[in-house]
Amino acid sequence: MPFSSLSEIKTRLDNGETTAVEVAQLYLDRIAAHNEQLNAFVHLDAEHVLGQAQASDAHRAKEGARALEGLPIAVKDIFCTQDGPTQCCSNILKDFHAPYDAHVITKLKEAGAVLVGKTNMDEFAMGSSTETSAFGVCRNPWDMDRIPGGSSGGSASAVAAALTPAALGTDTGGSIRQPASLTGITGMKPTYGRVSRRGIIAFASSLDQAGPMTRTVKDAAMITAAIEGHDALDSTTVADAPQLDWLKACEQRDMKGMKIGVPKEYFVEGMDAEVRASVEEALKQCEALGAELVDISLPHTHLAVAAYYVIAPSEASANLSRYDSVRFGHRCDNPEDLLDMYTRSRDEGFGSEVKRRILTGTFALSSGYYDAYYLKAQQVRTLIQQDFTQAFEKVDVIATPTSPITAFKIGEKTDDPLTMYLSDIDTIAVNLAGLPGLSQPCGFAQNLPVGLQWIAPAWREDVLLGAASAYEAATDWHKHVPAAFGGEV
Ligand code: GLN
Repeated sequence: MPFSSLSEIKTRLDNGETTAVEVAQLYLDRIAAHNEQLNAFVHLDAEHVLGQAQASDAHRAKEGARALEGLPIAVKDIFCTQDGPTQCCSNILKDFHAPYDAHVITKLKEAGAVLVGKTNMDEFAMGSSTETSAFGVCRNPWDMDRIPGGSSGGSASAVAAALTPAALGTDTGGSIRQPASLTGITGMKPTYGRVSRRGIIAFASSLDQAGPMTRTVKDAAMITAAIEGHDALDSTTVADAPQLDWLKACEQRDMKGMKIGVPKEYFVEGMDAEVRASVEEALKQCEALGAELVDISLPHTHLAVAAYYVIAPSEASANLSRYDSVRFGHRCDNPEDLLDMYTRSRDEGFGSEVKRRILTGTFALSSGYYDAYYLKAQQVRTLIQQDFTQAFEKVDVIATPTSPITAFKIGEKTDDPLTMYLSDIDTIAVNLAGLPGLSQPCGFAQNLPVGLQWIAPAWREDVLLGAASAYEAATDWHKHVPAAFGGEV
């Protein structure tokens, strides 16, 4: 049976009860047994994983253990790694090898982590189901006919099925939290500017942020502690960001005196009744742990999805203009001239969802429409930010469902982009406001996991971690693993 958490592995390694090589082998065996079904990993080099584990054991013996010494962590295919391909699950980047490691990858290596392959994702992180991946859909271990959420669906599926104890994802509009919710694990999006975006393939630069996907809250804190920090080569990381004691933040075991804001706009019509019941039950439990529930309003919530689907595609259309097939990426056969090379290469390389975003974004930014769409959306973004600022004058933290529904069936929403876009209705506002958010499991509806989302003021991940740790300590939702993958950890 796999380990219950990264922290458990760390303790056992520190006590000499196991080695990094044994741990790596255990997870490699699980991947070998289950990945064909799940398609959670799109690249894995077992020899390379074992090599890192051997080096880690040697480092421990010679120089002592670093923060993540010997701990296996999988990473989404969006992170540039010098080892192996980085393809963003797109044909336009097929077989691309990055010349350098992303800043967070360097940080994980410096902390002694063992990097375990690349996980499946929606192409360029555009999607909510991992169905837009050029490398095939990824499955939800709780029900193989269902999606694991997206865009970090491979990371979520791998952690939920215990093929890896932890993974990295990215979150532009919900891509860490929504799949975490739909697969019953914990996922945190740090404050925008906390973690460097250098070497993370850009989708929407003002929204993208990397973060952990784990089985426990403390594991999320351990990884964030290792990857956060100013990067001179990413000017959006903040040099004097408030420093947190990440592990201490997780020691909270009750919620005495904590004011939890419950925004009515997140409990709306169309929400699954059983999801609502699970989240309401979780909130009651928080009350029993000493918290005070406060009804609040975030009045511009209903505008978040519309604003996001102007801002994110606009930024994506600019970011994706670099795939011109000249310096890297797919190039079509026998181009007639330069223009033919550009257009045919892009047409062959990008999937339909990515094309839809590029077209929408280019339109929104075009002369004459800029003020009506992009500028307007940015103004709405400010209103959404103000909603949160006002709410945090009254409460310490906000709690909502992470997703209004549980995991849907593969193919159910692929013909209807608008319904797919609504999957992130509960997560998008947090990105627009640049705030930290965390999803943790809080029950089941129709035998599928339900997630509870915590939102805190900027730079206050300690508040998220404190609330989530107290809830986790009082429940055992985080211990469930689907029966076919072992039952419980
Ligand atoms: N599902 C949203 C989208 O498709 C968010 C994706 C993300 O956070 N990367 O854009």
